[in-house]
Amino acid sequence: MHELGIAQAALQHVLAQAQRAGAQRVDTILLRIGALSGVDPEALRFAFEAILPTSAAAGARLELETVPALARCRSCGLDYAPGSAALFECPHCRAFGAELLQGRELDLVRIDCT
Ligand SMILES: [Zn+2]
Repeated sequence: MHELGIAQAALQHVLAQAQRAGAQRVDTILLRIGALSGVDPEALRFAFEAILPTSAAAGARLELETVPALARCRSCGLDYAPGSAALFECPHCRAFGAELLQGRELDLVRIDCT
């Protein structure tokens, strides 16, 4: 399961940040996931909940923020929501190919610790 590896990597970042901050415990972990990142938010949550209790961040609450995909047409400049990651077709001018403005995010946004 590829989400498990992502959860483990993210958790290592969280623990490193908490340690640098001299935190006693981690309260909240906020992750941002783009619709085209290839990560399934529910699978990621499941993976996190499997590994959190045995880590130094046990008890932390996981918040997932999903980011919808947004593309900008290279021909007419229209911003639109692409239907799939594989094919960007402008709904206005039907041009293929677009600049992806958002949707590939996989970021650790914030951790709250005490
Ligand atoms: Zn267009």
